[in-house]
Amino acid sequence: MVYDFTSRESERGRVVFALTLHRKRMTERVIIGRTVDVRQRLETKADVVYYDVTRPLGSLLLTFESDKTGVWNRNGDILRDSYGNTFPNEAERWKMAAPVSEFLRQKCKKGEPSAMFAAIHTWEDYLDCLHKIEEWQLVFRRCKACGKDFLAKSRHIELCSDECRKQQAAIAKREFDERAKGDRLEQLDEAAYYYWYNRLRKLRKGKAANSDAAASFKAAFDEYRKEAVRRKGAVKRRESQLAEYSEWLVQQQAEADRLMDANTRCNTLSK
Ligand SMILES: [Zn+2]
Repeated sequence: MVYDFTSRESERGRVVFALTLHRKRMTERVIIGRTVDVRQRLETKADVVYYDVTRPLGSLLLTFESDKTGVWNRNGDILRDSYGNTFPNEAERWKMAAPVSEFLRQKCKKGEPSAMFAAIHTWEDYLDCLHKIEEWQLVFRRCKACGKDFLAKSRHIELCSDECRKQQAAIAKREFDERAKGDRLEQLDEAAYYYWYNRLRKLRKGKAANSDAAASFKAAFDEYRKEAVRRKGAVKRRESQLAEYSEWLVQQQAEADRLMDANTRCNTLSK
């Protein structure tokens, strides 16, 4: 019987490696198969095992499969990725696993029992893992906070642990505060701008219009704008505090009032 590496149904971990050493005959016998079949084989010669060979004693140790070139590891990595890292859909996953299944099949065909057993077990473990995940209805997710891959009970779970949940909540709060601060900065800036602008308009138009006063007020307004842009930038870059900026705006508004007062007084005097 040949182990089927294209199978998507595992033997559910029942494949065993039975080794019998014979001292007098100087032989070793290896049987690989499902537990129940190996037992039967030993009693009744049932022909359903994957491997049953009697060789000179020591053959197993002398020819034991090793992984000098790392090819086993590479294939193992592919299997792991096929249901771990990239979370492909089922068709994609089998496509990824297909070359590994072929590699394992070739290893099995060579007839070296240690390699054969490792190949069968690798595939069995892979299938078992998939079935359990399916059976328990778990899904692979990548944690939004730490980037680690993990198994979750539903697609809606985005964080792998309490620690990451706490961390994410802290980030959300910080972002919220940051946004609120940004909004407040814009509000203050806009209000202050119109404070100046409305006064300038009064000097330009309306009953108290005065072109000289408007020109000097405009110059002060321009100065103020330049400085306001600089200070606003500093708050955005967290080089200064919002409260500091707000205080400065109030001072500047007092300055605007002072200029207005001086101008209206001139106006009254000149009349
Ligand atoms: Zn995490």
